[in-house]
Amino acid sequence: MFALSRVPLLFSARALTTNVGRRPFSSATNSNGLNSLSTFTEDEQIMRESVATFAKEVIKPLVPEMEETEQMPKELLQQLFEMGLMGIETSAELGGSEMSFTSALIAIEELAKVDPSVSALVDIHNTLSGTCLQRYGNEDLHKRYLSKMATGSIASFCLSEAGAGSDAFSLQTKAEDKGDHYLLNGSKMWISNSGEADFFIVFANADPSKGYKGISCFMVEKEWGVQIAKKEKKLGLRASSTCVLNFDDVRVPKENVIGEIGQGYKYSIDILNEGRIGIAAQMLGVAQGAFDLAVPYLFERKQFGKHIGTFQGMQYQYAQIAAEIETARLVTYNAARMREEGRNIMHEAAIAKLIACQVAERSASKAIEWMGGIGFTREAGVEKFYRDAKIGSIYEGTSNMMLQTIAKNISNNISR
Ligand SMILES: Cc1cc2nc3c(=O)[nH]c(=O)nc-3n(C[C@H](O)[C@H](O)[C@H](O)COP(=O)(O)OP(=O)(O)OC[C@H]3O[C@@H](n4cnc5c(N)ncnc54)[C@H](O)[C@@H]3O)c2cc1C
Repeated sequence: MFALSRVPLLFSARALTTNVGRRPFSSATNSNGLNSLSTFTEDEQIMRESVATFAKEVIKPLVPEMEETEQMPKELLQQLFEMGLMGIETSAELGGSEMSFTSALIAIEELAKVDPSVSALVDIHNTLSGTCLQRYGNEDLHKRYLSKMATGSIASFCLSEAGAGSDAFSLQTKAEDKGDHYLLNGSKMWISNSGEADFFIVFANADPSKGYKGISCFMVEKEWGVQIAKKEKKLGLRASSTCVLNFDDVRVPKENVIGEIGQGYKYSIDILNEGRIGIAAQMLGVAQGAFDLAVPYLFERKQFGKHIGTFQGMQYQYAQIAAEIETARLVTYNAARMREEGRNIMHEAAIAKLIACQVAERSASKAIEWMGGIGFTREAGVEKFYRDAKIGSIYEGTSNMMLQTIAKNISNNISR
């Protein structure tokens, strides 16, 4: 069984709620009051240090067993809530940490440096489910669900179906108006965190005659009859549950419609833009995690009487990956700051996700090569990053979809 270390938590949800998200940049600014993209507030720096320590001291020892059993220990989930990592942007009044979007990305990045599955759980819960409810749910839904999501209940974001992946708006799950409630029927596929979730944010069509303009968004409780039909066995992200869900006459009261009927397609586009920056942060963590594992080895291992990291053939390779990681970091945190400034991030979020997942794959692949035979073994831990990197080019929009978004923005600007 999992043995969870009881290291003292560096901060709790309560600690995170003090003075957060309100302070301007704490570091020096230039004469125009601007800062570099690598400038973080004091609270964001505290977030980075705290999550990094937690990941190293608590999560790292659990990783081999999590990989083997493909399970996330319940005690670890509890600790993520206690740390305030499951309601990072949620108001303190509702039990959240009331921190910035950038803080959420920092947490996602730091977790991914040690375990991308835990990072995926925190990412999807915060940047998809939390943001969707926060932005489009009314006060009643906030009170009933956001507080629970910040303190003990996991929520999944359910858009994809067997026949609706990249073409998400072709979804077939139906929501039939029955007066005071909707009846949900259909199936969802690839739903992250669904093995642990109590709540499900479900996209279903309430008026198929209107095509995608019938797509609506519902807050659904597991106990209303959501069936977890099958847990997928995956290449990577093994400890993150990814399941098929069935909805068979699931009765959802009308108070649980998120936002307006028929607006779900707009909400999903908006939320996924932010989610993509979350995945970029996760992939940045994967890239850095693999790099950090491999580089010290280059200065321990000797061949031909020299450390292998001193050969020019090796120097050029790790310098190249370091430069790529820095690029991924800049596009990711720039997109985050743009989101905080309320600007349109569709283009920048797509670029951040595209670049970060490519860098993650290259960094993890190189890390294995740099460590030679040792890198190919499970014991070294870099092969896990290689497997976990692959998901970055698939979920929350494939790399082709990111390229399509970027190209569309370019051509729209030209034809304007
Ligand atoms: C581990 C995991 C976790 C996930 N978690 C969630 C979740 O929590 N919630 C959720 O709703 N979904 C989730 N998904 C689903 C994920 O978002 C989809 O897998 C993704 O959108 C791709 O859809 P697809 O798998 O149907 O691939 P497809 O859409 O069938 O794509 C297959 C290939 O065709 C290409 N392609 C498709 N259309 C075009 C086009 N027009 N132009 C060029 N190329 C094209 C794609 O780029 C890709 O290479 C998850 C998936 C995985 C694997």
